[in-house]
Amino acid sequence: MTCETIELTLVDFQLAAVDEETRARIEAHLLECPQCLKSYLALKRNLETAESEPAPSPASRARLRAAVAEYLHPAPKPWGWWERPLAFGFATAALVVALLITQSIASGPGAAPRTLAGAQHRTFSP
Ligand SMILES: [Zn+2]
Repeated sequence: MTCETIELTLVDFQLAAVDEETRARIEAHLLECPQCLKSYLALKRNLETAESEPAPSPASRARLRAAVAEYLHPAPKPWGWWERPLAFGFATAALVVALLITQSIASGPGAAPRTLAGAQHRTFSP
């Protein structure tokens, strides 16, 4: 690995976000290259001192948590005032259409007779 690629991976290396092979290569390079070692130590110092800076307030932490929770598990959107009647209207229309189709199939020519008497009348009438 070149010094430029090492520089780019030092943050991931410090945060343990590199795979085992990359980590071994970076460690080997840091042992050989004083310039990269110096960069790494400066970066490490900056990251560690940054963590001792004043922390965000509890209120802003709570807002951030709420925002993340809302993003991950959004609350179901309530129905609009017009959506429920529209849905019932469509369901009723679909039911009526299904009933009409069923009735036309059941009462048309070639339909099964409703009673035995009707069957005799149809079958044996001259
Ligand atoms: Zn180097």
